[in-house]
Amino acid sequence: MDIEPIVQKIIDTSPGADLVEMKSRSKALAAGLRKIRMLERQLEQDGDTEALHRAWNILCTGANRLADKHWKFSPSPDGIRAELNEIPLAEPPEHVYEQIREDDRDKCFGWYHHCRLNMPDGEVVDLGTFYVRLDHRYHSPRVYAHKNCYDYHSSHPHVASGGSMCMGDAEMLYRRLRDTNDWAAMYDVVCATLDTFNPSSPYWRIDSMRRDSEACRVCGTPDTMDLMPDPMWDPNGPYRQRLICEVCLDRERRRAFRDALREASREHNNQVRRRRYDNPQD
Ligand SMILES: [Zn+2]
Repeated sequence: MDIEPIVQKIIDTSPGADLVEMKSRSKALAAGLRKIRMLERQLEQDGDTEALHRAWNILCTGANRLADKHWKFSPSPDGIRAELNEIPLAEPPEHVYEQIREDDRDKCFGWYHHCRLNMPDGEVVDLGTFYVRLDHRYHSPRVYAHKNCYDYHSSHPHVASGGSMCMGDAEMLYRRLRDTNDWAAMYDVVCATLDTFNPSSPYWRIDSMRRDSEACRVCGTPDTMDLMPDPMWDPNGPYRQRLICEVCLDRERRRAFRDALREASREHNNQVRRRRYDNPQD
């Protein structure tokens, strides 16, 4: 993945001054101070304090003007490049790419994260692989189910159904790191937050997700007797296979058959109409 466009975007949108500009601020006052020293020496000869007073006023105005300037320190391209090189950046999968607003696509970058959620009791829950996307301008990271995830809400208890991640206790740290362009540290904080269950920030509970994944996908019957792996599951999709009961499977098959039949008859009618239109003499 080419990181240069991202580096440039970050530089372009980071307000602040570089080191050269910072140093020029103090230098701008140096001339004024030199003049004051010169006038102090002259004072012994002519006793005139008027010029000295004026020089102090000019220095004071200059200092005030500089103090009002933006004090944020802008990042260096080399620094950002080094930070981004620490992250296993990757292009998003097709279905995630489609979810990203068109004018946001060139502004973000991300990586794949296989999430092993550490529960407070020491258990580790495999939640599947996610694509995590950072937008350099703002906000919390976005997290998308990618492979072998639970088909349940956002697939991760710290992620809202829209995909935005709740950083919980790490929020302040995350914001500070973003302001100082510590991208590699942000990567660590995001991964650690995804891998550590925080009872104060989850959008849903792990136990209800488990109950759901062990019940019929359609009717929710937890009866283990006639449940089978859902044959209509898409192995190329982001989710792991769910279960379905015989009754619901039968109903879904019948509905699929009816829909197919209806579709075929509609297509047939269309063709008849089209033929009549093309050959009005018939
Ligand atoms: Zn069912």
